[in-house]
Order: sequence, then structure tokens, then C-alpha cells
Amino acid sequence: MSPIDIVVVGGGNAALCAAIAARLEGASVTLLEAAPFERRGGNSWFTDGAIRFAHGGLDEVREIIPEMSDEEASRIDLPPFPSEAFESELMSMSGGKADRGLVAMLASESLTTMRWLREQSVRFAMIYDNQAFERDGAYRFWGGLSVKSVGRGIGLVDTLFRRAETVGVEIHYGRRVRRLVPDDGLFRVESEVASGVPARSEEADTASPPGPAPASEAFTARAVVLACGGFEANADLRRKHLGEPWRDAVVRGTEFNQGDGLEMAQSLGGARVGSWSGCHAIATDAGAPPYGDRGVPGDIYKKHSYPLGIVVNREGRRFLDEGLDFRNHTYARYGRAILSQPGGVAFQIFDQQVVSLLREEYGRPEATVFRADTLAELADRMGVDPRAFEDTVDEYNRSVGPGAFNPERKDGKAAAGVVPPKSNWALPLSEPPFLAYPVMCAITFTFGGVAVDDHGRVLTDEREPIPGVYAAGEMVGNLFFDNYPGGSGLISGATFGRRAGQHAGRWTR
Ligand SMILES: Cc1cc2nc3c(=O)[nH]c(=O)nc-3n(C[C@H](O)[C@H](O)[C@H](O)COP(=O)(O)OP(=O)(O)OC[C@H]3O[C@@H](n4cnc5c(N)ncnc54)[C@H](O)[C@@H]3O)c2cc1C
Repeated sequence: MSPIDIVVVGGGNAALCAAIAARLEGASVTLLEAAPFERRGGNSWFTDGAIRFAHGGLDEVREIIPEMSDEEASRIDLPPFPSEAFESELMSMSGGKADRGLVAMLASESLTTMRWLREQSVRFAMIYDNQAFERDGAYRFWGGLSVKSVGRGIGLVDTLFRRAETVGVEIHYGRRVRRLVPDDGLFRVESEVASGVPARSEEADTASPPGPAPASEAFTARAVVLACGGFEANADLRRKHLGEPWRDAVVRGTEFNQGDGLEMAQSLGGARVGSWSGCHAIATDAGAPPYGDRGVPGDIYKKHSYPLGIVVNREGRRFLDEGLDFRNHTYARYGRAILSQPGGVAFQIFDQQVVSLLREEYGRPEATVFRADTLAELADRMGVDPRAFEDTVDEYNRSVGPGAFNPERKDGKAAAGVVPPKSNWALPLSEPPFLAYPVMCAITFTFGGVAVDDHGRVLTDEREPIPGVYAAGEMVGNLFFDNYPGGSGLISGATFGRRAGQHAGRWTR
């Protein structure tokens, strides 16, 4: 049997972009997804589809949302987000540690990527609910993140799967790729076959039960694109690289990202780079399930309105600066801060002054919440020592400085005299009833990866490309370190995926 030009490993945003791009170059492409059809799509499926990209203002954004009417546009106030701003944001949030070449490419290509996604039929809309404030009938966007995919991550992934099928990508589900064996200029791609899963997407739609599947299956390819996520769903690897407390962390997304791709890339000589002890982890509802919940689609357990209140631990003490920056610039590392607290839990506290400003996830039926008319009662419901909690709130309230509260910008209204301070949006907690939302740490994805160049080619320790081996998405190292600007994961996956697919397509042809 003649070899396939390109095998793409993974079934999320990065893999789908790589597969489509490679196919559009004329290559034969097979995509192997570890998950069965009904659990396909990786972490990308669970996202809200928020996607960060550089643009010159509303006119350029309208290129990717051509459905936007003039009337809608007239109510939008959207500052430009230049590529240089995106680049310096990524650099500064990595503490200067990211690979500047990769970051510059990602930022400058991001609008091209969005146009390309649109050409692949992905549709976008403005994020009115969480990234804009309405005033006098106009929406003022802030923070560089303003667009999401229609239908959230599910819409994005379903559209890309449809497009991949339309352009002729062959898709196999339930194929967990475990080994890549170089074989005379080709690659033998060895996969474990999940039992009882339909092999192809079209079979998944038929009523007839699948025939017996073999336990393993091998494919021969000229090139391989690895886009199969980090190791966030692997408890042993979490413990090994992130530390003991991470072993039992809740996983926000797919259970299939076990670190296989990182291991395979390294086994072929790929250099391990980036922050292997770092990850994206957020505050999630204390009642969230151990993995992403496919029964209730969407990113529903996150709790992102902490800049409007205070956060205390089980001992009733504050431990982070809730108002250090906009939530897009702090949320990805505050999960870790919660994990290091006693019992790995914390409580986000709000009063009636800000309740109407809380994000929509706080009003969902899944949200766990305690309410009380006094702080002492609230502490009692939280299982926290009332005296310690009241002392914390008193001290915080006393240190709130003058100035106007304005959630649209960093207002400088600080509680400066407490440790830790609250740098912005500090209002005294004074208007009952008070609310407490118990939260814990949930891991989103890991930051450690392999070295790639700006075509997604995997590089050796000597920074030489390994012919025919590519990586994209969460597997790319040297991009994200201690922190992360919200919406960057999808644009990174799409940009590196598309470029890897294009390069592999041209190379194999
Ligand atoms: C709840 C949640 C919300 C998020 N919200 C956003 C957001 O709004 N905006 C944003 O930019 N980012 C968001 N992210 C981060 C974003 O999901 C990731 O950065 C991005 O989707 C990663 O894409 P990927 O293709 O690399 O990985 P994934 O989408 O995770 O895809 C990896 C794929 O590889 C498959 N796979 C794994 N191992 C194997 C193997 N051995 N063989 C074959 N297949 C394998 C998996 O089944 C999966 O299909 C969110 C993440 C989560 C979990």
C-alpha cells in the first residue's frame, strides 16, 4: 500500500487546521483522533471560542464577521489591537522568557489566521457579554479580546470537522497513537484502537453496530503532524512535572490529552523546551466534575469575576491581589494560588454593589453559592472561622482608598494598606446580602512543549528541523510560561496548525 502523505495526530483545533491546510496543498491526509466520535474535539470543544488576534480596529474585524450590519457596527467602540501590542503582551506575560521569533510570528499572522478560518466556514461574533461594557447603547470593548466563534468551541470544532471531511481528509476515531517509528524515510504510525468505537465519522451516523475492531493499527506516512495536546489529563505526569498537589487536580477539558505527543516528539529527537513545571489553571466551581462535562456544553464551571470582590481561604484570610489586572491577565495563574491554600479551596466573596456585574456563569444553576445577611453567618455557611473572616473583611474595608470605582478600566481604586493589597476595583464589602462562591483549582493545559520553528517543524537540541515531523497547539513549547493572555490558545493552535499543515503539504508533494 502506498504511504499516506501526512498523518495528523489529534482531533482538536490545531490538528483540524493542520489537516485542512495540508489537504488544500494537495496532500493525502489521514487524521487520527484518540477519542471516539462522540467525545471528539479535545479541549477545543470545551472552550467558549474566545480568540485573541491583532487587528487595526472594527473595519478589519468586520472582514471576519461580514454578517455584522452597519447598525450593529455603529454601536461598537473597539480600540485597535496592533500586532506589536499582542506581541509585547505575550512577551511580558511570559516574563520575557518566550521565544520572541515564535511570538512575533504568532502575533503578526493572527489576523491572516482568522481570515483563513473564515474561509474554512468558521463564523465569528463579538463577545458582548464578558469583554464589553454597555453605556448609552454603545458597547465599549476592552482588553484585546473581542471575538468568539459562533457556537463556542463546539461550533468551531464541528465546522472544522465538516470542512476536513469536505476537502477529503480521512478521519479515524478511537485511534490513540502511541509510537512513531522512522522507517526508510517514512514513518510507521502505530495506534491503539479503542474497542467498540466506529472507525469513521460516517459510520458513526449509521444505526448498525461497528464490526470487531483490531487492538492496534499502523499507518505509513511521509510526514506526521503531532497536535495531540499536553499532559494535563495525566495524573502521573502532572505529579512528576508540576508537583505532588497537582496529582488530584480537576481537569477542565478532555481526558485524552495524556502527553503522548510530547513523548513521541522527544523520542524522535525533538528538544524539550518551555515551562514543564508551568500550566494554565483557573478558579473553578468547587462542585465541578473531575473532567470536562460534555453533558452541559460550554465552559460553565469557571469563576472569573473575582476582580470585583475578595478571595479568602479556608482560614478566612486573603492570599492574592484580586485587582492586580483585568481577569484576562491574572486568571490563568490564580488556579495555582488556590491549589497551594489549605485544602486547595477558596471562596470568592461579593456584596450587592457588584452582583449585577457578575459574569453569567455565577447565575447558572450549576453554580455553588452561599448567601447570608451577615459576614458571620456567611462564614458559618462556608465552614470558616467567623472571627478570622470578619477581621479580614474589617481590615480590608478600612484600607479601601478614595476614588471612583470603574470596572471598564484599571481604576486605581485600591486597598493599599493590607497584605496582599487589592490594586484596582476595591469597594468595601458593606451591602448585604453577601455571597460566597467556593472554588478550587482546575487545570486547563500544560505549558511545557517541544521546540518548533515558525513552520511548526520540530527542532532538535541543536535547533535543526527533524524532516517530516511537525507539532502544533498545546505541544508547542517556549510560548507560554507563568501566565497567559486569555484567548491565545485557540489562535496559537490555528496559526501553528495551519502553518505546519501548509509546510508539510508542500514538503511531501
Ligand atoms: C474549559 C476550557 C476552556 C477554554 N477556553 C478557551 C478559550 O475560550 N479561548 C482559547 O483560546 N483557549 C481556551 N482554552 C484553551 C484551549 O482549549 C487550548 O489552548 C486549545 O484548544 C488547544 O488546542 P489543541 O488542538 O492543541 O488541543 P486539543 O483541542 O486538546 O486537541 C488535542 C486532541 O488530541 C487528541 N489526542 C490526544 N492524545 C492523542 C493520541 N495519542 N493519539 C491521537 N489523538 C490524541 C485528543 O483527543 C484531542 O482531540 C480552553 C480550554 C478549556 C479546557
